[in-house]
Amino acid sequence: MAGLQLHGLTKRYGDFHATQNVELEVKEGEFLVLLGPSGCGKTTTLRMIAGFVDPTEGSIRIGGKDVTTLPPWKRNTGLVFQNYALFPHMTVAQNVAFGLEMRGIAKREIAPRVQDALELVQLGHLADRYPRQMSGGQQQRVALARALVFRPDVLLLDEPLSNLDAKLRHEVRIEIRALQQRLGITAVMVTHDQEEALTMADRLVVMSDGQVRQVGSQRDLYERPASRFVAGFVGRSSFLEGEIRDGRFTTPGGLTLPCDKPIRGPAVIALRPERMTVAAQPHPGSVPGEVEFVSYMGGLIDLHLRLSPTDLVVAQVSNREGSLIPELGDTVHVSWPDATAFPA
Ligand code: ATP
Repeated sequence: MAGLQLHGLTKRYGDFHATQNVELEVKEGEFLVLLGPSGCGKTTTLRMIAGFVDPTEGSIRIGGKDVTTLPPWKRNTGLVFQNYALFPHMTVAQNVAFGLEMRGIAKREIAPRVQDALELVQLGHLADRYPRQMSGGQQQRVALARALVFRPDVLLLDEPLSNLDAKLRHEVRIEIRALQQRLGITAVMVTHDQEEALTMADRLVVMSDGQVRQVGSQRDLYERPASRFVAGFVGRSSFLEGEIRDGRFTTPGGLTLPCDKPIRGPAVIALRPERMTVAAQPHPGSVPGEVEFVSYMGGLIDLHLRLSPTDLVVAQVSNREGSLIPELGDTVHVSWPDATAFPA
């Protein structure tokens, strides 16, 4: 077991920065998730940790040891890919044993280690099957066993669930997380799926344009997003763009309301749909809005509210007895006690 440190990790392709000055520390036994839109540099970061991409600048330490220039097989990382990458002509056991054989591990040691790794992922009874005889979820568990059989210091997971259907994704997500916790192994996973990141991570790293934008727990990122980008990427937000001056926020569409945020000038206000109050009557801090669209999702209902010709927000109300369920064209009164403001 070991922690992981990335220092000033930069990868340039010509003038283009795939990652820029990435600073990260993963504690021993921690599950860190790299989250961000396509092309933000997540996979490049993971591949640099694994040793498949050479950094242009910066360093990587595993268990305190500088591994920046070591080849992949000397880093003791276990890698799980999106597409499993199993050998089709080998049985499950042979797939898991392959890496050990390549590393010259003694034959008598290999069989029990393979069996142990397969037991870990609950596939001990399917050791003689071929990948084509297994479901996607089972194949991904074989890939996990193949990574764990090395007893890696760090487990690296590159979108490991994206080829699975929604139901299986939920199951395998829980299995991977439970196994990681049981083994106490340090893990770094890449995903662009917010829900996956939120349910699996101890801490999350939000990236965009090759840079780390914010690092923290789910709660940190949701409650205290550092930027408009993070507010829009972790959880949902509606944004109002305008200007804060003399204690008021005013939008070009004519919406104007008191604002006590310590920002002057152009600003963006981020509103969480589930944190808004919707009522039939005006109330302190409320503004009127016309219901432009109603999205019925069973227990929850999204209301798209037109606050001005240019200002549209989404408010979420719960579908309970006694709660106000407005209809299309109704005027309601909406307030947001705890919005976050950013300089624009
Ligand atoms: P995705 O979720 O789509 O996999 P990502 O966040 O993992 O995206 P990366 O694969 O790390 O993104 O790529 C980051 C950027 O670096 C992208 O713009 C990509 O086009 C670029 N890039 C990656 N590899 C190379 C390469 N070998 N040569 C040139 N550009 C590259």
